[in-house]
Amino acid sequence: MKEYKGRYVSLMLCSDCNNHCEHCYISYTGSFTEERLKELIPILKKKYKVLLNGTEPIIHKEYLKFYPMCENHIMMTNGIALQNNELLMDELLENGVDEIAISYHIGIQDKISRITTKELDELIQELKGKGFKVKLMCSLSQDNYQQIGEVIQKALELKADRIRFTNFINQGSATHQYGKDVLLDSKQIAEVLQEIKHQRSQIPKDTLYIERCGSFGRNPLEEDHFTCLAASNMVAITPDEKVYACIFDTSPGNEIGYIDNEGRIMLEDGVEGTKDFCKILTKYNGVQNGKKT
Ligand code: SF4
Repeated sequence: MKEYKGRYVSLMLCSDCNNHCEHCYISYTGSFTEERLKELIPILKKKYKVLLNGTEPIIHKEYLKFYPMCENHIMMTNGIALQNNELLMDELLENGVDEIAISYHIGIQDKISRITTKELDELIQELKGKGFKVKLMCSLSQDNYQQIGEVIQKALELKADRIRFTNFINQGSATHQYGKDVLLDSKQIAEVLQEIKHQRSQIPKDTLYIERCGSFGRNPLEEDHFTCLAASNMVAITPDEKVYACIFDTSPGNEIGYIDNEGRIMLEDGVEGTKDFCKILTKYNGVQNGKKT
C-alpha cells in the first residue's frame, strides 16, 4: 500500500436522497456521522483539499457546519429541499454557501425527476434574488444531447452564472431504470464537445461559464486540455471509508484503498491514474476515448 499524494478528496457524505432520479450514478449506501466527520476532516485537511459531495447532503442540516470547515462555498442539490424554504437558504448563506449547483436536465428533467423544469425556473429566480450564484448541472443522453444550445439560452435567461454538462453514465440506478439505449456513442460525444466549444466561443465567460465533465473523455476531433484526475489527483471516499478512483465509480468492489487508523488515505499498489482517458466512459458506457487523428 502507498499513501495518496494527490490534491483533492471528495467526501461522499451520504447516500440519502429525496428524489431518486432515474439516471443517478450513485451506488454506495450509508452516511457519515457528524462525530466521525469532526475527527476525519481536520486530519484530511492537513494534506488535501476536501470537497463535500453526494448524494443530497442538504437534507442533513448537521452537515452544514462542515462547509465552512472545508471552505466549500458550493452546495450540490436537486433543489427539492430549497423549494419554499427561505430559512434553509439563509442557513446556507450563514455557513458560507453562496453558490447552488442545481440539477437541470434539459429535455429529460420532467421524465427523471420529481421537481419539474417550471418549478426549477421559479426556484432559480428565488435563489438569484437571495444573492446566490447558480450553476446548472445538466446530464446529457441521446434524449437531449442536441439541446445544448437550448439549455444555454435558458441559462442566460435565468441569469445562471455557470453551466456544467455531464455525460449520462450507465452506473447506479441508471443501469436498470433509464436504460442503456440512451448512452451517447463516440460520434455523438464528439458532436457534444464541438457544440460546447462553439457555445464557448459565442458567450463570454463572465456572462456564463460553460464547463464540461471529464466523463465525455477526450475530444476525438481535436487537441484539448483533457486530464483525468482519478486516483492521481482526486479520490472519492464513501461513508464506509473505502477509497475509490472517481465519484462515478463508487460501487462496492471497485475500491482502490482505505483510510487507516491514523486517517491516512492508503491506495493499493499498482493503482495509477490514467490521465489521458476517462476510465469510467469505457468501463460503463463501452465508449473508447477518442484521440486526435
Ligand atoms: S474517470 Fe477521470 S475523466 Fe472520467 S469522470 Fe472520473 S475523474 Fe473524470
